[in-house]
Amino acid sequence: SPSPVPKAEESNISVYVRCRSRNAREVREASGVVVSTMGHKGREVVLQTGPMAISNKTYTFDRVFGAESDQETVFDGIAANLLRETLEGYNCTVFAYGQTGTGKTYTMSGDISTAHDVLSENAGIIPRTLVSLFKSLEQQSDFSVKVSFIELYNEELRDLLVSDPSRKVRIYDDPLRKSIAVQGMEERYITSASEGLKLLAEGSYRRQVASTQCNDLSSRSHSVFTLTVHMKTTDPSGEELVKVGKLNLVDLAGSENINRSGAENKRAREAGMINQSLLTLGRVINALVEQSPHVPYRESKLTRLLQDSLGGKTKTCIIATISPAKVSLDETMSTLEYANRAK
Ligand code: ADP
Ligand code: MG
Repeated sequence: SPSPVPKAEESNISVYVRCRSRNAREVREASGVVVSTMGHKGREVVLQTGPMAISNKTYTFDRVFGAESDQETVFDGIAANLLRETLEGYNCTVFAYGQTGTGKTYTMSGDISTAHDVLSENAGIIPRTLVSLFKSLEQQSDFSVKVSFIELYNEELRDLLVSDPSRKVRIYDDPLRKSIAVQGMEERYITSASEGLKLLAEGSYRRQVASTQCNDLSSRSHSVFTLTVHMKTTDPSGEELVKVGKLNLVDLAGSENINRSGAENKRAREAGMINQSLLTLGRVINALVEQSPHVPYRESKLTRLLQDSLGGKTKTCIIATISPAKVSLDETMSTLEYANRAK
């Protein structure tokens, strides 16, 4: 009989693209549409980089979401599966990566308000994950869920769950557990989706208030919303098992923070214009994809914070968000190249 065909090893990193429609400004400035998401099998993005079709550039990803894809479609296509993996005991991460104004926050958080406990149709991945998580846990008798919510700006961490902005959060190596630990970080146990939504709203509000005081904070900071789930189960022999899974939902700084000034631009680097965490994240992902023996986790706070969720037995999704307009063509190309290298 024929020997079974070996299954190709499944990649731990999935890469998606989401392209919004042109915004009012792009329409007003008559900036043409240069991105098509109607390509082959919903997996291609075609960029019109010049006047002739011959100069079109085609990129292929795990799936491409066009402007017609609503929030529910994006959640079902990306995060629902990752949530299942989390409940199996994996550490998982979703990153939104892209130029400021392309929909990272819309995709990750969107409208987080509820009416009579029902989410808005504009609710993004985090609120939908909270609702779906507690629905899945209805079958479980013994579990706990905790939330943390961190902001990273200029390689400094700030806890979005505490009101005292001066409270220090510090990452350090935990030699006993051979992992990293975060000192001073608030972790709140929640027992329902609405408790989680309340923490999300509180933290998002703190982020918003701070960004009106500091102009570039909103485009230059990262936010990391983390759910840690403990589940106690009994295996068929009656032995008790504890499964622990973690899901990190990350709204990254605008990609123009490494693109426009150029990663190799020494002057920009010295002026602190390069976002160290965003740059290092790209290098860490490339090292993981290339199975390099050295993964530079230690070179940024973001990659240290997420170290136990990147590489090894973990699952990662990257959602590259782009604008379809010609004015953004250069940034869009850089974003797609970054995403392409993560495959
Ligand atoms: P970013 O976080 O990347 O800077 P935002 O998420 O704030 O961008 O999006 C910028 C604006 O565009 C917001 O008003 C947002 O509601 C809107 N927007 C982004 N993506 C979409 C989309 N797919 N559908 C509808 N509106 C969107
Ligand atoms: Mg944003």
